[in-house]
Amino acid sequence: MFAEHRSVRSWPAVVVALLAVALVPAAPAVGRADPVQEEMSATERVVAGLEESPVHVDPSYASAFPEELAQETGRRITDSGVPLRVLAVPLIEGGDWNGQADLMAAAVHDRIGGEGHYLVLDGERLSGHDFSTGSTTQVSRAFYASQAVSMGMGDDAPVAERVERAVDVALSDDPEGAYTAADEQRDPGALDWYHSLGPGTYVLFTVLPWILAGLALLGLGVALFRWRRPRRLPSLPQHAAFDNANQARRDELAAKAGRELVEVGERVSGAVPVADDPGAVEALHQALDAHAAARQVYDVLPAEGALVDIVGVLVLLDAAEDHVDRAIRPAGRRRSTPVRSHCYANPLHGTGTRMTRWREFGGRGDVTVPLCAPCAGAVRDRRRPVVLPAHHRGREVPYYEVPAAESVWAATGYGTLREDLVDRILRGDHEVGPR
Ligand SMILES: [Zn+2]
Repeated sequence: MFAEHRSVRSWPAVVVALLAVALVPAAPAVGRADPVQEEMSATERVVAGLEESPVHVDPSYASAFPEELAQETGRRITDSGVPLRVLAVPLIEGGDWNGQADLMAAAVHDRIGGEGHYLVLDGERLSGHDFSTGSTTQVSRAFYASQAVSMGMGDDAPVAERVERAVDVALSDDPEGAYTAADEQRDPGALDWYHSLGPGTYVLFTVLPWILAGLALLGLGVALFRWRRPRRLPSLPQHAAFDNANQARRDELAAKAGRELVEVGERVSGAVPVADDPGAVEALHQALDAHAAARQVYDVLPAEGALVDIVGVLVLLDAAEDHVDRAIRPAGRRRSTPVRSHCYANPLHGTGTRMTRWREFGGRGDVTVPLCAPCAGAVRDRRRPVVLPAHHRGREVPYYEVPAAESVWAATGYGTLREDLVDRILRGDHEVGPR
């Protein structure tokens, strides 16, 4: 019933060693502020934090999980003698630990060893990971605690309260009992009507028709949805359509951007706008501007290739392609070829997007932005979608969290928040700010 598996394992030494090698990320390239701090890997930073206190809260979660509470929780854990650790760390796919809580817990635990129980808070998601020493059977405290809290409090309760409660359960004498109790009490009443019905014939004659009617309605709804759903238009190539943008693909993406810069350039310069149509001429101008902006960003790509900039080039090329397409179509058909919107969370997800309200974690307020289906689903479930990472002052953050004054991508959401992305680049906004 639960998607989450029990991550109770005693890791064979070889696997742990391999993981340790694979998981130690390269030190951030920026090395000015504090050389010792900068040279530590993300795992080492977390481990160093845990040496001070069993509760490690990333600075970006300071408002959701205040320092005082972290200290108080740390004291309770230390006093209990249970090797429980709490990690509140933002996880980003393609970033450290590939954005996976279980990989982070494994990497951290590998440095510490022994029995260990980890409650990991990532955005609004709380998960539990347990490691035993192999010789004895130990209670999966963290797993039971995170599950009991999810079932008991739901995912809407404030994160600080959920972590507190999870720590209570994990430190208790019987975490498994708390989990079982939460499972049994979940959604009380959901089955009461069923038990209260009594004899089978009663059930058959009163409930069955309703179930059948419900199923029929559901079928009708699905059919209606299919019928009303707009047919997919034959789509233009999506230069920015990838689902995955980890660091290993950077060179590949940069090479692709270079190739397509040339191809789209040829297409734009060879395009003939519809005769006597100011709208078509205007569209071609926009295509030329978008291509010039892409060229401008591409020409100053840093040697190691900043992912945010490579993505910017690809997004601008998609825009150029859309404008050309509009320029060569008769005015009547131009309406059916809008300029596509990329996924705001990560433009590499492509342009199959819908406007979606997103309540970001950390109290940044609501935004209504185009999101791809998986990201929209994540937002609906109050999970953080797989966002595009950016390097900012030696740390990895979602690209849109870089101050707008320092990133034209953050300022415009790659053109989804504001329409003046191309203008901003052409007037030189892209070159400002440290990375
Ligand atoms: Zn997306």
